[in-house]
Amino acid sequence: LTSSSSSPGLHVIHIAAEMAPVAKVGGLGDVLSALSKALQKKGHLVEIVLPKYDCMQYESIQDLRALDLVVESYFDGQLFKNKIWIGTVEGLPVYFIEPLHPAKFFWRGKTYGEPDDLKRFSFFSRAALELLHQAGKKPDIIHCHDWQTAFVAPLYWDLYAPKGLNSARICFTCHNFEYQGTAPASEIASCGLDFHHLNRPDRMQDHSSPDRINPVKGAIVFSNIVTTVSPTYAQEVRTSQGGQGLHATLNAHAQKFVGILNGIDTDSWNPATDSYLRFQYNANDLEGKADNKKALQRLLGLSFSDSRQPLVGCITRLVPQKGVHLIRHAIYRSLELGAQFVLLGSSPVPNIRREFEEIAKKFENHEHVRLILKYDEALSRSIYASSDMFIIPSIFEPCGLTQMIAMRYGAIPIARKTGGLNDSVFDVDDDTIPVQLRNGYTFVTPDEQGFNGAFDRAFNHYKTDNEGWKELINKVMNIDFSWDTSASQYEELYLQSVSRARAARRVA
Ligand code: ADP
Repeated sequence: LTSSSSSPGLHVIHIAAEMAPVAKVGGLGDVLSALSKALQKKGHLVEIVLPKYDCMQYESIQDLRALDLVVESYFDGQLFKNKIWIGTVEGLPVYFIEPLHPAKFFWRGKTYGEPDDLKRFSFFSRAALELLHQAGKKPDIIHCHDWQTAFVAPLYWDLYAPKGLNSARICFTCHNFEYQGTAPASEIASCGLDFHHLNRPDRMQDHSSPDRINPVKGAIVFSNIVTTVSPTYAQEVRTSQGGQGLHATLNAHAQKFVGILNGIDTDSWNPATDSYLRFQYNANDLEGKADNKKALQRLLGLSFSDSRQPLVGCITRLVPQKGVHLIRHAIYRSLELGAQFVLLGSSPVPNIRREFEEIAKKFENHEHVRLILKYDEALSRSIYASSDMFIIPSIFEPCGLTQMIAMRYGAIPIARKTGGLNDSVFDVDDDTIPVQLRNGYTFVTPDEQGFNGAFDRAFNHYKTDNEGWKELINKVMNIDFSWDTSASQYEELYLQSVSRARAARRVA
């Protein structure tokens, strides 16, 4: 166990609930591994701390082994042992914490969605800090993500900095302000936080009630750097309509809050090397794309008699945020316009799941529509590769990765102008945008008419201008969605914060 960095770069430790491909539920998992890889490439020492879930993709971890070190951490008035594992994921060192707690916090067959999630992740946040402390780490930056590890910020300043784990600045990234992990105030006492001290309107108290605390609010207040995942979303959440109750807190802490657009892992998402695909292809040779489309149509039992029939794809969590009514509408609109439609989606929301199960059943033998209601990485890649168009009709979207992945695989995005979609999809017909940036179709009003306004134009372009469409594919496949630029922005924020802290220490 190395205790700290001797390299000239920064020592950055991420504490998070997800990391692709070992433990991925959504975009957070992708961001964690891609940002870490990009920072490592720039010469920084990057380490990651994750829970050791039973349901991880263990085959993606190299050299997984248990350390001799047993870390004891506090919870509910007692000390509990944690077994610490270390392994390499995507070339990055990762610590996995296995709590030896009778509640078996991470032996649940799933990542999130348990009734005791607050206990599971507040336990993990504390155990992660305890690990860093007991291992004698001296990180420059501790970077926590979303409500699950938001507890790290107040725990660090209230408990761990006084104990001597005090080398770090805390960076908190909120990947989606819809999920804040609010709970009855007394519940944060389990991990050792003092709720009398923290349950105040200017600290962790939720705006909805004086008896509830809000971990995300706590992380905003107690972190040195607060980021979210696109510039437009950063503006939206500072308004009362978009802030999910946190706009006032974000405005009060505006100097330390910025939006940085996510990138994608362009090594992993690359149609020229993607080993999940039957046929690899690139922007200069799209034959493989057509072959993948045919293979997918065969696999799903769709008609493949007309190679010019457009295929519309959608890959998403089916939750209200994603505009489920517009996704449903798009199925019927695709049929009206003579297109095929393939949806890959899973839903944690029972009534949405039931609704889509019914639609899936209705179309189970249809030759132009297929709904696959599960999480499936391999299938997702063949859908990106096979789609001519890709819809993202979100009501709000912090960043969104699927529009970028779709473009990298040569599928033209049709997206609502919100959050990160507004920062990455630019309408082909919008004269106010420089021509070289225009890469898809967008709409503003989240209703069927609004959606059709973009969708019908895309369809018309596809049908009437084959050459123009091919040029558009070529253009979107060549856009640089890598993490280089965004990782530099994080690096800059880290460096500024670290040098401010050093300057302050010198003065003191
Ligand atoms: P969010 O984080 O809100 O779910 P993002 O667009 O940021 O949305 O990230 C979604 C990621 O999850 C993408 O990598 C997408 O390919 C993947 N994904 C979403 N649903 C599925 C699914 N059913 N099967 C496979 N991958 C999925």
